[in-house]
Amino acid sequence: MKRSFSIFIKLFVILQSISVLCVSEEFDFFYFVVQWPGSYCDTKNHCCYPKSGKPAADFGIHGLWPNYKDGSYPSNCDPDALFDESQLTDLMSKMQKSWPTLSCPSNDGLKFWSHEWVKHGTCAESELDQREYFEAALKLKDKVNLLQILKDAGIKPDDRFYDLDKIKDAIEEATGFTPGIDCNVDSSHNSQLYQIYQCVDTSGSDFIQCPRLPRSRCPSRVQLPKF
Ligand code: 5GP
Ligand code: 5GP
Repeated sequence: MKRSFSIFIKLFVILQSISVLCVSEEFDFFYFVVQWPGSYCDTKNHCCYPKSGKPAADFGIHGLWPNYKDGSYPSNCDPDALFDESQLTDLMSKMQKSWPTLSCPSNDGLKFWSHEWVKHGTCAESELDQREYFEAALKLKDKVNLLQILKDAGIKPDDRFYDLDKIKDAIEEATGFTPGIDCNVDSSHNSQLYQIYQCVDTSGSDFIQCPRLPRSRCPSRVQLPKF
């Protein structure tokens, strides 16, 4: 009886260490990615405003994405994790404001947030649970006002074209870190600033210099469409 109890304890300790190993940090940093709504909408696919109404003319969150230093990234890491809307009840109006969905048909955003949690958030579960994941993204959005930084540098959403380097320099000067910039193409084939990537430490709270910049599809001059 005593022997089987001690075997049970040993087994328990071994299983515990395995589970600790399994949830130890499994990524190197986050990309915090925001999208310019004018560039999402100004494409062949168009867009649909969320049910809560036309979003503000501001960058909106796309996601907080765990990444590896070599440029690869994990995805869909926990088949058992379900998106639990009830954990976000008190964050709902902030989510609608800072993380609006623009996909069609018009909806309330839950599909977008659930997709981001399941695809990306579950790969950071060693650091942040679901609520912490969304809270971290909302806080990051409030830390840096990218639109104001660009406006202060004379770069406005007015359909004009701007030097990509000027955009990067303005953000680097204001935040201390080089951003990644990604572009898409509008229905007249103009390249436009679509997304800005900032790197964040694995706790999801502090911006860092990017261990690796994301790939960019931008030419040297890009349009910043009105929204
Ligand atoms: P796209 O091919 O449009 O750039 O990206 C499609 C999707 O793949 C993104 O929305 C995102 O979910 C994922 N993705 C693209 N690039 C990266 C990346 O560098 N890191 C991570 N973690 N996900 C990415
Ligand atoms: P990702 O590219 O992150 O893997 O996937 C984004 C998914 O979220 C796509 O299925 C896309 O249709 C959906 N989605 C919903 N709203 C938005 C939005 O406002 N922006 C982007 N980029 N994707 C959205």
